[in-house]
Amino acid sequence: MNLLGNFINGAIQPTTSNRSSDVFNPATGECIRKVSLSTAEETRDVITIAEQAFQSWSKVTPLNRSRVMFRFKALVEDNIEELAAMITKEHGKVLSDAKGELTRGIEVIEFACGIPHLLKGEHSLNVGRGVDSFSLMQPLGVCAGVSPFNFPVMVPMWMFPIALACGNTFVMKPSEKDPSVIMRIAELLTEAGLPDGAFNIVNGDKEAVDVLLEDSRVQAVSFVGSTPIAEYIYATGSKHGKRVQALGGAKNHMLVMPDAQIEQVTSALMGAAYGSAGERCMAISVAVCVGDNTADLLIDKIRLEVAKMRVGPGIGLVEEAHMGPLISQVHADKVRSYIDSGVEEGASLLIDGRGFTVKGHEQGYFVGPTLFDNVKPGMRIYNEEIFGPVLSVVRVNSYQEAIELINSHEFGNGTSIFTSDGDSARQFCEQIQIGMVGVNIPIPVPMAFHSFGGWKRSVFGPLNVHGNDGVRFYTKMKTVTARWPKGEQTTGNAFSMPTMK
Ligand code: NAD
Repeated sequence: MNLLGNFINGAIQPTTSNRSSDVFNPATGECIRKVSLSTAEETRDVITIAEQAFQSWSKVTPLNRSRVMFRFKALVEDNIEELAAMITKEHGKVLSDAKGELTRGIEVIEFACGIPHLLKGEHSLNVGRGVDSFSLMQPLGVCAGVSPFNFPVMVPMWMFPIALACGNTFVMKPSEKDPSVIMRIAELLTEAGLPDGAFNIVNGDKEAVDVLLEDSRVQAVSFVGSTPIAEYIYATGSKHGKRVQALGGAKNHMLVMPDAQIEQVTSALMGAAYGSAGERCMAISVAVCVGDNTADLLIDKIRLEVAKMRVGPGIGLVEEAHMGPLISQVHADKVRSYIDSGVEEGASLLIDGRGFTVKGHEQGYFVGPTLFDNVKPGMRIYNEEIFGPVLSVVRVNSYQEAIELINSHEFGNGTSIFTSDGDSARQFCEQIQIGMVGVNIPIPVPMAFHSFGGWKRSVFGPLNVHGNDGVRFYTKMKTVTARWPKGEQTTGNAFSMPTMK
């Protein structure tokens, strides 16, 4: 069986590890390849290569680094069909969704193309007489990224285009569940003119990740994945003196006000709850309805829409499915067990996706769209991230009750309000304790030139990904204060704190 190795020094290389992990096609349940789980020693060797490449790549001018990014963007666009099919085959999401993921990744490359502008830093003339101050934004060195299965291209692209454009070199550790597409992306980077060794992929699991966290030559670690691992990555990387940004799990609420347009809410919610089978960190998994009338109207509409949903393989149907399978058998079983627990804890199960199968794909990891009503805080289906096509309706009596509910949740990634009242929307934006907020927008994922990141236990570390935070994360600022001989000189020795005249 095909065994995927690593991407080192500009080419795919076999590994020496005797450990590997199976990679499945979630739509069929078939094992399609294996991926090597790199040893600690191999991972250290990859860091050595990235460290050597840093010596020359960091000296390439920002303009020429940006030109590599321009060529890379064009190559990703030219190959989008092939790349999207690779995503669908290992992840399961439908093909149009895979293309959407690639488009959001391309937007980060576009942002990185502007790096000469982004690295200009600050300059103050005459901070004192004849004295100027300016900042240099310098690369850190070797940076590492560890990414989750649910966006095998977009999430790595939140990281490496900006890191490379800033002059760093990079070691990527993708998810072992869908590792193929990022290997192809690495080949496109080489084709775009990135020097060998500047971008490397080490496939693996905890053994490889722990080296990236502990090796003193790695300067910064970017992580996206579940909260327990994000917390571990942040604590371990920080303990070893690294800069760390670690984005974790989520439980995103949509607040539906009585004055919201129910048609608009329904179509927004259908995609946000069931798109990508709910395996998005910005998926809406809780609809908080103010008033029983709002909840009843919404539930009636959702029932009608769910009945029309096509669930099936992400590629190959005459008419594309709306929703594909989950990533693995283990995960599908876990989502079903959450549905069991919701029933046991007293929520009303209105649509049950547990027994769902797709004709001709009986071994696929499908769970049907599921809807609960009367969900309450304290129930596991409310408190925990399910990461599946399970939507919970929570009924509240007032806007204030909704705000308190959402703010009390441990996660703070995304949220949205649907209303036709500007005052409620404005108050919501101000009062809500969540990092990314939508007003009549269900999945408010910021564009690449803004930064992406949640609050509370959805993130560890002060700097978010892409936008200005991304550039700050991958550079260290040096501030120079300079006087030239003709500038005014102090006379004699000065032993008190220097101040500008
Ligand atoms: P995961 O935490 O299981 O794995 C993420 C990465 O960490 C993988 O590369 C994996 O190999 C590695 N890993 C797993 N266990 C490890 C360990 N003990 N030590 C070191 N490394 C380890 O996450 P997942 O299941 O791949 O992805 C789904 C999760 O990612 C969800 O919780 C989702 O909310 C989250 N996510 C968050 C965001 C965000 O922006 N906040 C975006 C996408 C996904």
